[in-house]
Amino acid sequence: MLDNIRVILINTSHTGNIGSTARAMKTMGLSELYLVDPVSEPDSKASALAAGATDVLGNAKIVATLDDAIQDCSLVIATSARSRTLSWPVLTPREAGEKLVSESNQGKVALVFGRENNGLSNDELQKAHYHAVIPANPDYSSLNLAAAVQTLCYEVRVAQLTEDEKGHSAESPEEAYPLVENLERFYTHLESTLASTNFIVANHPGQVMPKLRRMFNRIRPDSQELNILRGILSSIDKIVK
Ligand code: SAH
Repeated sequence: MLDNIRVILINTSHTGNIGSTARAMKTMGLSELYLVDPVSEPDSKASALAAGATDVLGNAKIVATLDDAIQDCSLVIATSARSRTLSWPVLTPREAGEKLVSESNQGKVALVFGRENNGLSNDELQKAHYHAVIPANPDYSSLNLAAAVQTLCYEVRVAQLTEDEKGHSAESPEEAYPLVENLERFYTHLESTLASTNFIVANHPGQVMPKLRRMFNRIRPDSQELNILRGILSSIDKIVK
C-alpha cells in the first residue's frame, strides 16, 4: 500500500536534500518520489546522500508543475512550517500519516514539500486538501527539508504498522473521491460560470475562488457528488447562453 504514497518536492535547490529525501523515504518503506522543476537535477551529491537508496533516487520522476505531479491523486497533503493568510484544515503529522495510509487503499495519495528558502506558495498550498504542520519549536519551527520528509514518512510507517497489526485495512468509502484533475476541471468550470453570471469579475476574482476551494475541500465531495455539481453548472451555463 505504501507504493500508493507519493512524496513530491517542489523546486528543490540543494541536490543533497533530494538524496537525503530518497534515503528518508526508503528507510520508511516509501519509494515514489516526484521532483517538480528542481533547481538542479540529481547529481553525485544527491547519490552520495541517498546512500543505499539510489534506486528511489534513480526512479524519481521529474515533472514541470505541481499539477502534473498530483493530477492522478485523490488526496493531497501539503506541509508547511507556518500558518498562512487563508487558513486551511491542518493535520498533525500523526493524523496525516493515518489519512495517507487509509486512503492509499483506494489509489494514489501525495505528500508535498516546499522550497528550502521559502516553502510553498499560497497557490500551491491551496491545491491541497489538508496542511500538515510538524509542531516544532515556535521560535524556530522550520526543519531542514529532508528532516521534515523523514518525520512525515515515519508517521506514515507507524500508521501502516498499526493497520497491519489490526489485520484489516480501513474501510473504503462507498463512492471514491475524485482525482485532482477532475477537481481542477470542476474549479475551472465553476470559475467560468461565476464569471458568466458576473458573480465574479474575470481576471479579478479576489478571494472568492480560494474560499470556495476551501469550502469544497472541507466538504470533500465524492465523484458522484462532483458530477452533480458539474451538472448544475452546465444547467446555469445553458440559461446564461
Ligand atoms: N523558510 C521556509 C521553510 C522551508 S523548509 C518557510 O518559511 O516556509 C522546507 C520545507 O520543509 C517546507 O516547505 C515544508 O515542506 C517542510 N517543513 C519544514 N519545517 C516544517 C514544519 N515545522 N512542519 C511541516 N513541514 C515543514
